[in-house]
Order: sequence, then structure tokens, then C-alpha cells
Amino acid sequence: MKAASHDDGLARIRTLVGERGWVDDVDEMQPHLVEWRNRWRGRARAVVRPGSTEEVAGVVAIASEVGLPIVPQAGNTSLCGGSIPDEDGRSIVLSVSRLSRIRDVDPLDYTMTVEAGCVLADVQRAAADADRLFPLSLAAEGTCEIGGNLSTNAGGVHVLRYGNARQLVLGLEVVLPDGRIWDGLRRLRKDNTGYALRELFLGAEGTLGILTAAVLKLFPRPRERWVALAAARDVPAALELLSRARAATGDAVSSFELIPRIALDYVVEHIPGTRDPLRDRYEHYVLVELDSTVEGDQGLCARGQALFEKAAADGLIVDAVVAESEGQIAALWKLRESISEAQKSEGASVKHDVAVPVRRVPDFLDEATKKVDAEWPGVRVVAFGHLGDGNIHFNLSVPKGGDDAAFLDHWSAFSRIVHDVVTSMDGSIAAEHGIGRLKRDELAHYKSATEMDLMRALKTTLDPRGIMNPGRVV
Ligand SMILES: Cc1cc2nc3c(=O)[nH]c(=O)nc-3n(C[C@H](O)[C@H](O)[C@H](O)COP(=O)(O)OP(=O)(O)OC[C@H]3O[C@@H](n4cnc5c(N)ncnc54)[C@H](O)[C@@H]3O)c2cc1C
Repeated sequence: MKAASHDDGLARIRTLVGERGWVDDVDEMQPHLVEWRNRWRGRARAVVRPGSTEEVAGVVAIASEVGLPIVPQAGNTSLCGGSIPDEDGRSIVLSVSRLSRIRDVDPLDYTMTVEAGCVLADVQRAAADADRLFPLSLAAEGTCEIGGNLSTNAGGVHVLRYGNARQLVLGLEVVLPDGRIWDGLRRLRKDNTGYALRELFLGAEGTLGILTAAVLKLFPRPRERWVALAAARDVPAALELLSRARAATGDAVSSFELIPRIALDYVVEHIPGTRDPLRDRYEHYVLVELDSTVEGDQGLCARGQALFEKAAADGLIVDAVVAESEGQIAALWKLRESISEAQKSEGASVKHDVAVPVRRVPDFLDEATKKVDAEWPGVRVVAFGHLGDGNIHFNLSVPKGGDDAAFLDHWSAFSRIVHDVVTSMDGSIAAEHGIGRLKRDELAHYKSATEMDLMRALKTTLDPRGIMNPGRVV
């Protein structure tokens, strides 16, 4: 498409969204063009910030007409480069952040209807104000927005109990790549009227359309929490503890997070206000949270204590601390939530967000660790995360004093090693962060030709002009 028609399209888009919805000043655009770790930087013709679903539809219709590429963006916290435009500067960024209305909260229905630009923490708060829980929770929740969460099918720390973002949605409103609005904002728990269209857009990372609103599922709000950090004998013992915890507590386990010693060292060293929670040093820790929706449920605490006492007697855990106040709960969670931030201070890191069947986690950790160490002697493996979901953030820090640039140049080689191990265990190379541009080629390498064909067929059918987040995912 000729630049002239792009110019014409841009002028029409500018008129449509008005000055509030239009940013083309280079400095003002910057926050939208840089990934939070500074790994990717892009350029754009403009950042367009529509104020309503109809405006989004209008922008997309014009872009489709003139063949202008669109990079949808919400909170811009994703870790795979999907929300950052290419360096060629041909695209517009379409930010949904102005679509930030909570349209409805219905406690009786256990649903809420929110716009795509609502910050996740605001959604959680609005649910809590109605005495309900919206359980999606991740360290970026003060910045990421629901449109981005649903587009990446975000996971977080409560997947074990409540599922990932995909499982928390009943309905969607989507602007399709030709500018039509699909109003699928249904609140139904049962609806077998044909294909499950909403599933297509959840986790599509902006390649099939723009999510503008969603109906979310709510849950009873937990009244009691029991949070403890245990030093596990080893990772298999931690898994045995998880299995027992689910059965012994009426499946009240809402989080079960693995924290290795090295991660705790990073946090205690670099994050102000944190300290080692136990007197002695151990190799593996698990952070366990049990929730109960029953007011004053003393049984929750008793069940947690009994679980840990038996686990200690059986040698599964070697030490533990139980939080006795909200402050102590927050302090234990801070240790877990600060790992990514703390790792930044330890030099270059290569990240892998992978999943294997839960019982294979110990094998995966052993094999992948041996292989990356053989590849780069002295590499510091920081493998932490959602043990309860089999989702490990298998991050690699450059050896102390090592060459950051050379280490980062080796990213693809490390990934091939780790992803080969994951695939040999029927795992996933992208557990919760998505594909974006980071793993696009890896996806094509590991998915079967049939799966890739199906995905490409869907992309071509819905977006024949290829304007929606081109070059991402497929
Ligand atoms: C400290 C930290 C911790 C994190 N922890 C977790 C974690 O535990 N679990 C987890 O899953 N992720 C985690 N993440 C990654 C990130 O927060 C999630 O992927 C989040 O869901 C992205 O939301 P966002 O609003 O920032 O989306 P963005 O980064 O803006 O966009 C993400 C993708 O979705 C597309 N997109 C955005 N909005 C729309 C829309 N309205 N319609 C269509 N496509 C759209 C974009 O084009 C892009 O491809 C973490 C990130 C950080 C920085």
C-alpha cells in the first residue's frame, strides 16, 4: 500500500479520535514503544487512543481500508515483545487504555463487565467492593490491563485454584480486523450455540482483533487466608506436599510457588525491606496459600498446621514459617513477587516461561539444569514459579562478572536446549507469557504442521489483509 494512502488514513483516524486520542510526538510516544525491560524498542506513525468501542471500530475500519498495520496495546507489561511495534515505524499503536470503564458488577450473577483498558488491580478492587473475588493476580497487576491479560491468556499465582485468564471469561466484545464489532458480551455459564468464538480471541495476542470489553467470572471472596513458607527437602518432596495439601484441605490451595535459594538470595540482597524468612539456608522453598470463603474458618488454620506437622514428621519439609498477620503474609509474598525485579540487578538474564506435566517438574529441572550448565559453565539457573501448575520460569543469569552481551547473544541456543527438554516431556514452550515476537520462530519449530496450518488458516480468514499485529505469533 502506498505511503500516500497511509497518510490519508492517518489523517482520517486523527480526525476521528480527536486530539485526546492522538499522540505523534516522539517523546510522548516513548512509553508505548519500549518494552519494560528495554529488550525491544520500536517506532510508530502514531499512538492512537480511542475513547469508545465505536471509535476503535472506526480506526480499524480505516486502517483496514488503507492497509495500515495496527499493534494493539494495553498496559505494555508483556514479556514477549507483542505490544511493541517494529523498528520500521510503519504501524500505529492502538492503545485501549482510555477504555477504562467498569460497566457493571453483578454480585448475584457473580459477573462483572469491564472495558479492555481497566487496570487489573482496579478490576480486583471493584470486585472486592461488591464482596466478590476476581482471582487473576500477577506481579504486574498495578499496570497491566484486562485487554492485555485476556489477549495473553495470563496466568499468575492463582491458576491452581481458579484457572488462567481464559477460564475467567464468559463473554467478549471484539473489534474485528475489518472494523465490525462482535458483541459477544454474554453472561452465560452454558451456551452450546455453535463454535466457541470467544476462545479464538483469548490468547491471540492482538493478531485476530481488538478486545474492547469482557464479561468476567467472579467468585466468593476469601475470608480467611493461611500463608506459609516451607523449606522442602527437595522438589519431589514439594510435589508430594502439594498433592497432600489439595486433598487434606478440601482443595483450598490457591497458590503453590517454588522459590529456589538463589532467587531468595537475589531478593534479600536487592529488594529493600526483605529478609531471609528462616534462620538456616535451604535449597528449595515453597510458598503455600490456603483460602477459605467461610468467615472465621478456624478449620483452615488447623488443616494447614496439621498438614505441615505431618509433612515435617515424614521428612517432606525441613523448616517452615507460618504468617500470623496480614503484614507477615505481605512480607512472604513480597519475597516471591520480587524475584523478577531482583534478577535485573544480577546482570543479563535469559528467560524461559515453560510448563511440563506437574509430576515431571523435578526431571525437567534436573535435565535442563545439567544441559545449560554444560553449554555455559557457571550459568546461574534461577528456576522459580508456579509449581502447582507445572509452570516454571527457567531463567538463566550470566555468571558473576560475565559478559552480558555475549550471554544474551546466546539466547536462542539456550532456548533450543531448554525447549527441547520441555518438548521431550510433552510440555509447553510458552506457559503463560505468550509468543509475541520472542517465540514466533520457536512456535513454528515445535508445533506440528497441522496445528500451524490451522492457526494460519484462522489468521487468514479473520485478517485477510494481515493488519492485526503482523509478525506476531504466526
Ligand atoms: C513483573 C512482571 C510480572 C509478570 N508476571 C506474570 C505472571 O505471573 N503471569 C503472566 O501470565 N504474566 C506475567 N507477566 C506478563 C504480563 O504482565 C502479562 O502478559 C499481562 O497479561 C500483559 O498485559 P498488558 O496489559 O501489559 O498487555 P500488553 O503488554 O499491552 O499486550 C500484551 C499482548 O496483547 C495484545 N493486546 C493488548 N491489548 C489488547 C486488546 N485490547 N486486544 C487485543 N490484543 C491486545 C498486545 O498486542 C500484545 O501482543 C508479568 C510481567 C511483569 C512485568
